[in-house]
Amino acid sequence: MQVVRRSFDAIVIGGGIHGASVALYLAFHGLDVALLERDRLGGHASGVNAGSIHHIPRIHLELPLAEAALSSWARIEQLLEDDCGFRQVGYLKVIESDDEMPDAERSMARARRYSGIPEILLDRQALADLQPGLDATAVGGIFAPTCGYASPARTMRALRRRLDGVGAVVLETSEVRRISRQHHTWICETGDKNWCAPILVNCAGAWGVSVAGLVGEHVELCPVALMMTVCGRVKPLLNTVVGLHGRRLSMKQPQNGTILIGGGYQGDVLPATRDTRLNGDRLAYNLALARKTLPALSSAAVVRMWAGIEGITPDHAPYIGSSLIHEGLWHCFGFSTHGFYLGPITGRLLAEAIVKQEVPELLRPFALDRGASAAASSRAVDGVVRENQDEQAK
Ligand SMILES: Cc1cc2nc3c(=O)[nH]c(=O)nc-3n(C[C@H](O)[C@H](O)[C@H](O)COP(=O)(O)OP(=O)(O)OC[C@H]3O[C@@H](n4cnc5c(N)ncnc54)[C@H](O)[C@@H]3O)c2cc1C
Repeated sequence: MQVVRRSFDAIVIGGGIHGASVALYLAFHGLDVALLERDRLGGHASGVNAGSIHHIPRIHLELPLAEAALSSWARIEQLLEDDCGFRQVGYLKVIESDDEMPDAERSMARARRYSGIPEILLDRQALADLQPGLDATAVGGIFAPTCGYASPARTMRALRRRLDGVGAVVLETSEVRRISRQHHTWICETGDKNWCAPILVNCAGAWGVSVAGLVGEHVELCPVALMMTVCGRVKPLLNTVVGLHGRRLSMKQPQNGTILIGGGYQGDVLPATRDTRLNGDRLAYNLALARKTLPALSSAAVVRMWAGIEGITPDHAPYIGSSLIHEGLWHCFGFSTHGFYLGPITGRLLAEAIVKQEVPELLRPFALDRGASAAASSRAVDGVVRENQDEQAK
């Protein structure tokens, strides 16, 4: 068999939002880049997620990066020549009872301590003024006006156009099956082709661990299947993205009038086929919670449900940084349910780190050796599953 060999300055493995963003910024720095994607660009989590552009105060490691991410979305049209469906409509977390108030205040204090992301505490009246039609028993809310949502599919299409525009080579149906190294050059094998470069970036999402394993680097990650529901078009009901402070829910109404419902409820991952199986009970719970929160939703018909595969790390923060055992290898995966909104900013900062050989301050908390012990890891990964079950017991 004749093996075709092509050389680049950098190879990025994985065509999700992170691989596409870092490839784009590397190309902006003048590097000749190849992006190798096993299936199709945006075919996994990055193309099928809920599109919320929203920080998670409980992951305080991430808050400074989250603040920068929100600013990068406000400029997304300049970067991608497409607004990517980004709407800065804010993000509201409804507080269901007075008992939740102390925790809501703690969560706001945490967000303030680690970032300048504005959040406003709403009382019952302010809540009703901001978002009419909510369950009348709700007592208040936390509103983050600089958050919002974007369209994942549109964002991935815009990234593809920009990558083509800057001359990056994007190869779909190109699974990296073997990685070797000759002197300072990485060689990625995809069937009868070898792709070579001195810089290799692992952006393989929930499969980041397998790609790291190809070069003997071991990290922990738990793949999960996150489920979504979409209801058919209804009259305008939602002014903002709506979630709950104490329970898992997110609801948004894009301009086409449909209602997108999520919250991190899990189905099953079928590893052999990279497919997922939906869990009907959990979807029903998620839908019931949405209808309780916004009673007018009861008349909206469900039109589709699906799941996408995401990788969760032990401490729910991503791995971003250089390999601990190889030079010229960088990792960027494990975004633990909140990687869509971090895509553009992480791509910019990681490309800068690679080119300047110095990791910017905002990425330093995500180094691979940040030190979760194996025991703590398994507890945390377990916790993801437990959280999901506890949620449904409420
Ligand atoms: C249903 C759902 C809802 C979500 N909602 C939100 C949300 O509202 N807001 C938010 O910020 N985040 C959300 N997320 C999380 C977010 O989608 C992910 O964190 C983010 O998309 C991860 O991007 P990625 O580029 O790291 O991974 P992916 O998008 O999974 O891309 C990784 C790519 O690597 C490829 N790959 C793997 N192995 C190889 C190989 N050997 N060779 C070549 N290619 C390979 C895969 O085919 C895949 O396309 C959600 C996720 C899901 C599933």
